[in-house]
Amino acid sequence: MIYLMKLLRNDAVELVKLFQSDPNLIDEYVMETYEVIDEVEDLIKSYITLRPLDDVLRDCREVRERVRKGFKGRLAGLLIAVKDVIVTKNLRTTCASKTLIDFLPPYNATVIDRITAEGGIIVGKTNMDEFAMGSTTENSFFFPTHNPWDLSRVPGGSSGGSATAVSAYEATMALGSDTGGSIRLPAAYTGISGLKPTYGLVSRYGLISYGTSLEQIGPMARNVGDLALLLSVIAGHDPRDSTSLYVDEVDYTRFLRLTPIKNYKIAVIRECIEEGVDKAVLTSLNRSIYLLESEGFEISEVSIPAIKYALPTYYIIAMAEASSNLARYDGVRYGYHVRVEDRLWDEAYSEVRSNGFGIEVKKRILLGTFVLSAGYYDQYYLKASKVRKLLYDEFLKIFNQYDVVLTPTAPSLPPKIGEVITDPMKLYLSDIYVCTANLVGLPAISIPAGIVDDMPVGIQLIGPKLGEGTLINIAYIHEFKTGLKNLTPTVVRPYVQS
Ligand code: GLN
Repeated sequence: MIYLMKLLRNDAVELVKLFQSDPNLIDEYVMETYEVIDEVEDLIKSYITLRPLDDVLRDCREVRERVRKGFKGRLAGLLIAVKDVIVTKNLRTTCASKTLIDFLPPYNATVIDRITAEGGIIVGKTNMDEFAMGSTTENSFFFPTHNPWDLSRVPGGSSGGSATAVSAYEATMALGSDTGGSIRLPAAYTGISGLKPTYGLVSRYGLISYGTSLEQIGPMARNVGDLALLLSVIAGHDPRDSTSLYVDEVDYTRFLRLTPIKNYKIAVIRECIEEGVDKAVLTSLNRSIYLLESEGFEISEVSIPAIKYALPTYYIIAMAEASSNLARYDGVRYGYHVRVEDRLWDEAYSEVRSNGFGIEVKKRILLGTFVLSAGYYDQYYLKASKVRKLLYDEFLKIFNQYDVVLTPTAPSLPPKIGEVITDPMKLYLSDIYVCTANLVGLPAISIPAGIVDDMPVGIQLIGPKLGEGTLINIAYIHEFKTGLKNLTPTVVRPYVQS
């Protein structure tokens, strides 16, 4: 039993190198991963759809043969988990909703094609809050996911299943999506790293829309090196996404250097540490500040008064966009449907939507419709758009003087399952530090900063537009200094090689 994780302990880059020198190891690695899945999946429930081992082995044999013939794919042989909000050809994609319960997409998202072109193998589709609306992965139609550090706690959300799959070694890396913190929050709660790219850096083609102007697909991994590798593969222009930036391909692994690329100036936002932050989080943040200062970086406190409006602004815009995006689920062309013959159209339409969507999704469609309706538009949506611009200008000013902004990722440790689901204000508050980066379209990373009472704590770095390289460089130095890399949560400890 203790040998289950012989190969899995390696970083992704090391694994790819090992596979190049001995392609047979790919099978062994896949078997190890599935053995871990056998042991822990019933406890944590990362996957909505796990691909059968035989199917994965078939793909793996194909990659193995290509490697034998000289294929040098950057992900050749690696198992990657994908949040169930990203479409995968002929592999069920549900968005954790009854509405899409049997949806077999006829095409792949661009990120999936990019991953498979580099030899990556999709292991399964991970659990999430329905349509990515939530912060705990309890809003899934299927089941809640449990935190591998403490099964009684939530893993964060909405990319909770991707976070737990990576954290518990059920996949080497994962894709999440982040509309208002959904990659970073679960990364912090499960002791891994997660990055939300600059808006437009990663193609959204094939990402099922929730808040179109806010969201990005991004990488989640157990260490910064793996994260940089996956980002390098998925980032880049895509003509099929009209919001995609015209950028050259970047190899982000070249920012994995222990000598800083420059003498960084870091701004800590005063409003994010003043009140409402748990002691465990503050202690970890302060230790990180101390470590970064000892590296010679200059750290100062700055104030962004408007940041206190970020959370309500985010929720108004996200719900407005959701109400429009989710209008397409009419049960006619695909997904959950009801009998439409001999019935009034609006009767069938409302039956589909009443039965297909969960309570949180319906609440947001209603509120989103309200903030966009005549008479309330100016009061809510327009006002929120103005605050968004104000925040953007504030961040621009900060980046004239500083290289990155530092905040906690979440104000507290992960709540217990069932604790916040009935208290929407408490639930929404967990997004308070993460949602700003989505409003302003800037890149942001969450990295582990400490372990308190055997629970991981994360910090967040926000960078200027296309500043992913800077984030990765600082995160890499921080990871080395703290030693917080490839953390092993409680649930997988029995399977770690002694
Ligand atoms: N928790 C936030 C929400 O429910 C963010 C979700 C996300 O990033 N997808 O909107």
